[in-house]
Amino acid sequence: MKIDIDERVYLKSKVLDSVDSVKHCFTTKCGGVSSGKISGLNLGFRCGDNPDSVTENYRLVAKDMGFPFERITAGRQTHSANIRIITNEDAGKGVNRESEMQDIDGLVTDVANLPLVVFYADCVPILLADEKAGVIAAVHSGWRGTVSEIAGKAVEIMKNEFSSRPENIKAAIGPSIGKCCFETGWEVASQFDAALVEENDDGKFFVDLWEANKMILKKSGIKEENIDVLEICTVCNSDMLYSYRVHKDDTGRMGAFIMLEK
Ligand SMILES: [Zn+2]
Repeated sequence: MKIDIDERVYLKSKVLDSVDSVKHCFTTKCGGVSSGKISGLNLGFRCGDNPDSVTENYRLVAKDMGFPFERITAGRQTHSANIRIITNEDAGKGVNRESEMQDIDGLVTDVANLPLVVFYADCVPILLADEKAGVIAAVHSGWRGTVSEIAGKAVEIMKNEFSSRPENIKAAIGPSIGKCCFETGWEVASQFDAALVEENDDGKFFVDLWEANKMILKKSGIKEENIDVLEICTVCNSDMLYSYRVHKDDTGRMGAFIMLEK
């Protein structure tokens, strides 16, 4: 699903949108106040953009989506497999105030009106919600995070700490680099199940991170029909999405947001 608000464009998952108590979105680079080398709706504070522009972009997303701006919470992502449970005391860290949350690539919370965000360019953003247990998660799963199955770890925390049942979890795998464009060397490809890797005639390898993460979520007990893969490749759609493979050092970051409303 695509939603236009002014010149800004948001993408949504139909599966997650069916959960009444949850708000979510995947941002694009369209609209926003960033200018210069990184233009558009950049949400990354660490990619060379003016911090005031980034903050204003967060304000725009909050206004468009009905998120409390001052409570948007992010970790410092480092392609780790570390997940943190976010409490009310953490609200606003990483966006509106200083944060001690280092090396955190997944966030889980049961606190209402506390929007979680992970940012990404080609890496895979995954949003999870269990309405019955009242718990949500946002996960940044690049190829390293996929190999270490960070999405499965998030489900484990939802189960163990919040009594979530995987059959009640709905999941969205957001825009990210598709198998069409994720060409890797053998040193990366060899870390994946052979079924997820395709070798072309030139001896180049292509890895399917969407299917890899879907397999991880299914292995965790999430039903196939509750997993929504948006199937939007950041490289193929670099006119509206930031892609590290395309924009190199001038890549902004998009945000995958999720919030419990009650
Ligand atoms: Zn592609």
